[in-house]
Amino acid sequence: MKALPVNIEIGSHIWVGDPELAWLDGVVFNIKGEDAEIQTSDGKTIVANLSRVYPKDAEAPEGGVDDMTKLLYLHEPAVLHNLSTRHEINEIYTYTGNILIAVNPFQGLPHLYDAHMMERYKGAQLGELSPHVFAIADVAYRAMVNEGKSNSILVSGESGAGKTETTKMLMRYLAHLGGHNASEGRTVEQQVLESNPVLEAFGNAKTVRNNNSSRFGKFVEIQFNEHGRISGAAIRTYLLERSRVCQISDPERNYHCFYLLCAAPQEEIEKYKLGNPRSFHYLNQSSCYELVGVNDAHDYLTTRKAMDIVGISKEEQEAIFRVVAAILHLGNIDFAKEEDIDSSVVKEESKFHLQMTAELLMCDPHSLEDALRQRVMVTPEEIIRKSLDPHDAAVNRDGLAKTIYSRLFDWLVYKINVSIGQDPNSKFLIGVLDIYGFESFKTNSFEQFCINFTNEKLQQHFNQHVFKMDQQEYIKEEIDWSYIEFVDNQDILDLIEKKTGGIIALLDEACMFPKSTHETFAQKLYQTFKDHKRFIKPKLTRADFTIVHYAGEVQYQSDQFLDKNKDYVVPEHQDLLSASKCSFVSGLFQPFSEETAKPSKFSSIGSRFKLQLQQLMDTLNSTEPHYIRCIKPNNTLEPAIFDSMNVMQQLRSGGVLEAIRIKCSGYPTHMTFSQFLHRFGMLAPEIWRGNYEERVACKWIFEKMELTGYQLGKTKVFLRTGQMAELDAHRARVL
Ligand code: ADP
Ligand code: MG
Repeated sequence: MKALPVNIEIGSHIWVGDPELAWLDGVVFNIKGEDAEIQTSDGKTIVANLSRVYPKDAEAPEGGVDDMTKLLYLHEPAVLHNLSTRHEINEIYTYTGNILIAVNPFQGLPHLYDAHMMERYKGAQLGELSPHVFAIADVAYRAMVNEGKSNSILVSGESGAGKTETTKMLMRYLAHLGGHNASEGRTVEQQVLESNPVLEAFGNAKTVRNNNSSRFGKFVEIQFNEHGRISGAAIRTYLLERSRVCQISDPERNYHCFYLLCAAPQEEIEKYKLGNPRSFHYLNQSSCYELVGVNDAHDYLTTRKAMDIVGISKEEQEAIFRVVAAILHLGNIDFAKEEDIDSSVVKEESKFHLQMTAELLMCDPHSLEDALRQRVMVTPEEIIRKSLDPHDAAVNRDGLAKTIYSRLFDWLVYKINVSIGQDPNSKFLIGVLDIYGFESFKTNSFEQFCINFTNEKLQQHFNQHVFKMDQQEYIKEEIDWSYIEFVDNQDILDLIEKKTGGIIALLDEACMFPKSTHETFAQKLYQTFKDHKRFIKPKLTRADFTIVHYAGEVQYQSDQFLDKNKDYVVPEHQDLLSASKCSFVSGLFQPFSEETAKPSKFSSIGSRFKLQLQQLMDTLNSTEPHYIRCIKPNNTLEPAIFDSMNVMQQLRSGGVLEAIRIKCSGYPTHMTFSQFLHRFGMLAPEIWRGNYEERVACKWIFEKMELTGYQLGKTKVFLRTGQMAELDAHRARVL
């Protein structure tokens, strides 16, 4: 962001770039040519080129401003300083026009979300009260009721930024507005709310970034009837992280449900032969078992209660946890090399776990053993049973665990949806999206690729909304508007998702060719995209590739792309579990929803995800969007620490800085002439007497109110920041 053309003089209060703190403030005490000599507020003297120096509003309000668009100087340092000032006094919410920025406080602030607060925000105008998630939910709800249009709230941010907590708050508030006074039985809104702890138990885990990290994306569609009451809901989930079931690294944890079950009441422990989580391979790869402030035994009971409320029967609950226990035992089945030949046997000490797994899944132990140790190869000539060596048998075992777990998760989502129920007559909905933010790690695999693809899609949606919509309207209305350039990311999306020749298409192609390897796949990418300006072949690697994302470059390691993209259940596993005597288990392996019914022969995770994402975008495009950008103020998850460098990067990735710029330099308020006259006609009652054209009447009002800087388009008026408030104030005086 460039500085506004403001003169820097001796005595000016300024901000100057700093490699560690992002920005330092100070006063210019001398200027030599292009350089300013600066006394910083922390007592240093530095010399900086004038191009790096930004003016500072020395009289900015002490506690910051609640809307960035109110900043006198609008640039990066001012925005950061404002957020940090507010964070210091626990003002965690700040508007940027109608985008809400939420800085994670990393401490409980219960007074912010109590019933009293909910009541206060009910029906209040945006900006009338302090910025808040409730205010955004309220605007969405009012817009829906008044205009009869569906709305959506998109919550984004990096892992640990507070998306899920924000989403829960939004849902609680919407339930408060659109809920029923049912004194008995389960209400839809209760079920919607209680779906959170259930999905979190099975889809959340402790990671380095967040102790309760959602390992899936979620879109909750809350349906309303014509009276604005909640009448149904649908939950869609995206890309559960499957690998976590059998692979975790210190100091992370597996999915919460495993630990909850190990802390269940004694009779269950005995029934499932569980006990100490340290005795299970899927859990003991990391030395983290307990979480500070979390009581697994208590959470086990809470989860069961939540399951009751969302309509999962006691029998189903028993089966669900039996399957969870089976996965733990399955992970403990180890293989040894069979003498002389290249095949494997189940180790003597694992036999117990084999027996337990079979018992819990209610399938035949011999069939289970065969399904783990052998792979059936079907060739045109014959069917061969190939024995796997111990390593491949273990990989095969993990594959089975992942399949069962992901089916279990899909089933939970399916069941919750069935039980809450959809309202076919619903007039409109509010969608709430809680989805993983942009990721760039040391190693980035297929998961990061999909996540970043999602974020490119959402960024485009955001761009289109904030930038394109504004600009297109200015053009359509033929008002004077000088373009502000912004980064469009269509070229990155083409690179990834183009039907023919995009990365996903090439990956699918590679997966269908039996001879391809990740290296041939990478070669193909290098060839195809050698001139693409968003694609880089990194030096010194044979199979990595880099995508220049809107938020920065990410280098992907392609070695597991092919495996992770393949989406089919090994037929031996399918056969084994379909034959289970437990109808719940066999049911997991029958199609129970559109998602799990796969009509086509070849399906890949990548293409399926692309399709899901397109459906999501279609839904979002038919709604009026609202954006909440969550910010993680530090990586140590502590209150009261504000790491400016880190935050700045997040503001850039989230497009917040660009949005601020365009909002303020443009005309944040657009209204049709008749809307305008309807609202402000009372300021000049004389216009009703003559038979004036609407445009002329609007102009009359502006002139009478002595406003300047506004614009009249062909059908609409365009107001500068603050002018709406000014007119409203006049109106209030007349009323
Ligand atoms: P994300 O979904 O973005 O990964 P979460 O919503 O799970 O992040 O938030 C991570 C943690 O931060 C939460 O477990 C909670 O401790 C804390 N947190 C987030 N938002 C708030 C909030 N509004 N008030 C208090 N604590 C919060
Ligand atoms: Mg989350």
